[in-house]
Amino acid sequence: MELNKLTLTEAIKGLREKQFTSVDLTNACFEQIEKFDGEVKSYITLNKEEALAQAEEADRKIASGDELPPLLGIPVAVKDLFCTKGLRSTGASKILENYVPPFDATAVKKIREQGGVILGKVNLDEFAMGGSTENSGFFPTKNPWDLDRVPGGSSGGSAAALAADMCLYSLGTDTGGSIRQPASFCGVSGLKVTYGRVSRYGVMAMTSSLDTIGHFGKNVEDVALILSCIAGKDPLDSTTPDEPVDDYLKEINKDIKGLKIGLPKEYFIEGMDESVRDLILAAAKKFEEMGAEIVDISLPHTDLAIAAYYVICPSEVSSNMARYDGMRYGLSNRDDKTLEEIYNSSRESGFGAEVKRRIMIGTYALSSGYYDAYYKQAMKVRTLVREDFDKAFESVDMILTPTAPTPAFKLGENISDPLKMYLGDVFTIPASLAGICGLSIPVGLDNGLPVGAQLLGKRFDEKTILRAGHQYQQVTDFHKAKPDLK
Ligand code: GLN
Repeated sequence: MELNKLTLTEAIKGLREKQFTSVDLTNACFEQIEKFDGEVKSYITLNKEEALAQAEEADRKIASGDELPPLLGIPVAVKDLFCTKGLRSTGASKILENYVPPFDATAVKKIREQGGVILGKVNLDEFAMGGSTENSGFFPTKNPWDLDRVPGGSSGGSAAALAADMCLYSLGTDTGGSIRQPASFCGVSGLKVTYGRVSRYGVMAMTSSLDTIGHFGKNVEDVALILSCIAGKDPLDSTTPDEPVDDYLKEINKDIKGLKIGLPKEYFIEGMDESVRDLILAAAKKFEEMGAEIVDISLPHTDLAIAAYYVICPSEVSSNMARYDGMRYGLSNRDDKTLEEIYNSSRESGFGAEVKRRIMIGTYALSSGYYDAYYKQAMKVRTLVREDFDKAFESVDMILTPTAPTPAFKLGENISDPLKMYLGDVFTIPASLAGICGLSIPVGLDNGLPVGAQLLGKRFDEKTILRAGHQYQQVTDFHKAKPDLK
């Protein structure tokens, strides 16, 4: 048995039944990393020593037979945007290359408290700005399905590590698509929660009004289980409301007879990949066979969403990046003489091109005289997009769309054309602006490359999209397909 290939649910069962230990499981992941991560390059930092100590501790707890939390002894890969106490956390930026946080992000803390095993920190686009992981300040990650292609981004390391079985699940963040799109490109299941469902405390902020925490699993059941472990109110993040956390594992077992699924016409557009369209329509047909009702809907402001996002995001970025000033923490070029020179030179050498681009666009959009024309206008569009979804959800329970217009593209293909890269976010950004939840699940292969369908749900209604995704995976096998790593 290749332990690293187990799903979370299988691994939990095996640990409880003492078929293997957490140390075995952890070692299997590190062996896989040793074999394949030289090529895939998903990890920035390995945490081997601590991980094995955590695994030993988990094995002791299992042996004691006390009540066992679900994530006990299970190895996880964490996007390097999360602060991890005592473990280097870079945001994939040179400006934080040697930064070791004195505290844990809340999501990480919850996993640690359950006795989770933290394998290491995985790659991303610098501070989560990008859609291919090529904007990492260190190196690009490759797609395990085709090493000439990107894994998607910004949580590309999290998706690639999981697709290559170098962990059992992984944490990511999604501001405009950063979990859903890499999940689609790498053939795994990925959840972007409703804004506020999971605490953002201790996760480096990119666009504070859009950032959400989420995760990747080998199937939807795993995704549901992880959510039940990390969701909920956090006194350290005032955007987490006191909304009850559902019993996701129970909810997903209900059938989907009579569920109304909307198919928005604006998501099946000219210029999208034909096979992607066909695979999504085939998934819709499958849902229909399972008893759901497919309803044609319209989300009329969809085409304005990208433009609004690429004003709002850089605006908030320009403010959030101000904390990296070369004085407080991180890279500091102290040889420069004046304070202003230290600021300038630390930021000049610490930030990559995309981060600088967004700081400049955002500073411009927020400057007096331009604010009304750009930022305020974008916020109005955001409201329209949100109202589109609110209206649609009056008549449907869930919305089905493609996650991305194409399968994974080649490394280097879009990187020199930011606009082209931004346009790839066309199907994920509207839901981010609306603050609703979204799940990407594999629905087939296009020329050997995974394609994901996006299931969008009402605010705090993760249970419905998880249920639909899980029920779909009971009657299909697309989520079981694996890349052929050699
Ligand atoms: N690709 C989008 C961007 O570049 C989304 C990134 C994200 O969700 N973090 O901003």
